[in-house]
Amino acid sequence: MKLPTRGRNAGRKPLPDIMSAQQRSHLMSKIRGKNTKPELVLRKALHRRGYRYRLHHATLPGKPDIVLPRFRAVIFVSGCFWHGHDCELFRLPATRREFWQKKIEGNRKRDDIVRDGILALGWRHLTVWECAIRGKHALGVDETIRRVCVWLDGRRRTALIAGRSAACH
Ligand SMILES: [Zn+2]
Repeated sequence: MKLPTRGRNAGRKPLPDIMSAQQRSHLMSKIRGKNTKPELVLRKALHRRGYRYRLHHATLPGKPDIVLPRFRAVIFVSGCFWHGHDCELFRLPATRREFWQKKIEGNRKRDDIVRDGILALGWRHLTVWECAIRGKHALGVDETIRRVCVWLDGRRRTALIAGRSAACH
């Protein structure tokens, strides 16, 4: 399989062969697509409440998923696996553990740099973890969006929203 050499998937290796190519492609599109479900759900809910946003703002560090210029705020919707969240949705794969560990640690380091960059430009950032919306211990869309709005309308510069199984939320 040829690995992408450019863009956000550069160097990303395929998952171990425990599923068919079709299953894998379905799973991967769910995990890493720009329109992953929790993000879509969140966007729709924000829009319904009258919040206007832009998507994947290319000039801000990390191309945040949702950008609200009026609030000088950005929202990252982070997949718990790829970003190594300490929650029920994260489990290190049984094979090639070292590879995955390195990969995910790299993602986490990059996340920290991106968030520092956002603050340095005078913007605020919120991270909504996937487990806030998906999984057994999710807060649910309504509660998640309520917290998002409280943060947007408040003065805190950074915050995170996660499901109830997360070590810190
Ligand atoms: Zn999580």
